[in-house]
Amino acid sequence: MRKPFISANWKMNKTIEETVEFINAFIPLVKDITDVDMLIAPPFISLSTAAGFLKGTNIKLGAQNVFYEEKGAFTGEVSPAMLLSAGCTHVILGHSERRQYFMETDEVVNKKVKIALKNGLDAILCVGESLKEREENRMFEVLDKQLSGSLKDLSMDGITIAYEPIWAIGTGKTATKEQANEAHAHIRGWLRENKEGADTVRILYGGSVTPENVASLMSEPEVDGGLVGGASLKPDSFAQIVINSRRK
Ligand code: PEP
Repeated sequence: MRKPFISANWKMNKTIEETVEFINAFIPLVKDITDVDMLIAPPFISLSTAAGFLKGTNIKLGAQNVFYEEKGAFTGEVSPAMLLSAGCTHVILGHSERRQYFMETDEVVNKKVKIALKNGLDAILCVGESLKEREENRMFEVLDKQLSGSLKDLSMDGITIAYEPIWAIGTGKTATKEQANEAHAHIRGWLRENKEGADTVRILYGGSVTPENVASLMSEPEVDGGLVGGASLKPDSFAQIVINSRRK
């Protein structure tokens, strides 16, 4: 049985002070939870402070991006070593907002996953189709292309997949549990055909996850957790998502 994994993605939200306020409120709400892995991913600027407050807790820390070179003249970018020294264990890569606004291709995402793993960071790789692609019945083709491009020449050690249908992100339109399970089953099938250890890889669902819908999503056999945007910004709602994601 794969252990549930709930990750926050704060995107460009919260100052350092707001991050500390969240963490101080969140820790007591989830301190006894050992059967769900939890991660928060604040903006870069708050990582180091967050790591100090999370030390010794059951909550892990991740970044929302990393650059694909080790160091050098790349103004404004952040390296894997910097994330490690800030206290991160994970990095979210290939989010649809990175693909859409920052032109990240599967090739770029692949380079980022590679350098993250090489430096000892775990990667949460996001894939997912647009509404148009779904309506044109191209969902599986799109997922296959994203998986084969982003995972080229990689084994699955240290990689979690997040299936995030773009039409469900930040829209309040959650995929039904059947739609989520169907996509996850397809991803797992692709992994079985192309990689070793497919059955131990966790596949998270992302797209308008809330405290109200998470238990139903988690009742599906292929849904191993969630990547949560909006509903991860408040300690009580994120804690409730974690609690409601526990296996019965
Ligand atoms: C996300 O940003 O990865 C996400 C799923 O956002 P939301 O939960 O707000 O839809």
